[in-house]
Amino acid sequence: MRWLSILGMSILCVGASNAQLNESSSLQEVEFSQLSQRDPNPLGEKALAIHPEQWKHAETEHFIYHFVHSYVATPISVEAEFHYRVIAKELERAQPAGDIKSHIYIFEHPDEWREFQAFGKLEPWTGGIHSAGSLFVQRNPSYRFSDNSLGHEIVHLVLHRFYTDSIPCWLDEGFAQFISKDAHASYERARGYVSKPHSDSIAPQDLFPLTVLTTVTHPPSDRVRIFYDESERLVRFLAATDKQSFLSLLDSLSRHQPLETVLPRLYSGRFANVSALEEKFRDYASKDFGTSLQQASND
Ligand SMILES: [Zn+2]
Repeated sequence: MRWLSILGMSILCVGASNAQLNESSSLQEVEFSQLSQRDPNPLGEKALAIHPEQWKHAETEHFIYHFVHSYVATPISVEAEFHYRVIAKELERAQPAGDIKSHIYIFEHPDEWREFQAFGKLEPWTGGIHSAGSLFVQRNPSYRFSDNSLGHEIVHLVLHRFYTDSIPCWLDEGFAQFISKDAHASYERARGYVSKPHSDSIAPQDLFPLTVLTTVTHPPSDRVRIFYDESERLVRFLAATDKQSFLSLLDSLSRHQPLETVLPRLYSGRFANVSALEEKFRDYASKDFGTSLQQASND
């Protein structure tokens, strides 16, 4: 848990010192032709072709936004830049100024969003669409976003910038949940709310074997929630065991090296193989199961 407490503190520092948490200063709209970068993603073109007259555009340091109302886009831009800083700090990576920005498309009308969904694959957890480094989301202006699902998608965007060649599904989803849950809590605290990160434990009999969890290429549709929760716990466990080993693991897996090969090398003396990891991880994954109010009401 050592890294966890460090992580919590560092996120809090980022939050507290982040003057951009001021959501009242609206995004500055710019003409499409004046945007500093184009999106080569064909889905972007499809999005902007749906009622093309409605789209406005803006950009911040690391993202470009396409939206209908700036009061919907502004809080998203604040949250996006907040997450960028948290992730870059935790991954100990930073991009040079002027590097490629990620595009975020914000739909408002449910009908238009449904029309667009025909082109992309919805993420089962958040209902957003992340494709080749661009993010497509629907925001209803009357609904204020209050969980970690936007943060979750932004983590995918930023991870994709650092590890373009794709990383395994469990690591991508687990890291997105891990960072966005903790970041969401500190983001809320920076805005004056009382909030603590919450990681869900899993009943021992429900756990996926690691040989399954770490090899599937998309979340199994019948057990989506367990897949996300267990992936998050596994990332949390590996990161808490040794942060530098975890960062090296992320690098190796993003270069498509097999977990069973890199694990004993990077966690030498701790996990001799995936079975040894599984033995220790099972307890961690189920720790405190059934003790929280939410789980008690689900039982
Ligand atoms: Zn995801």
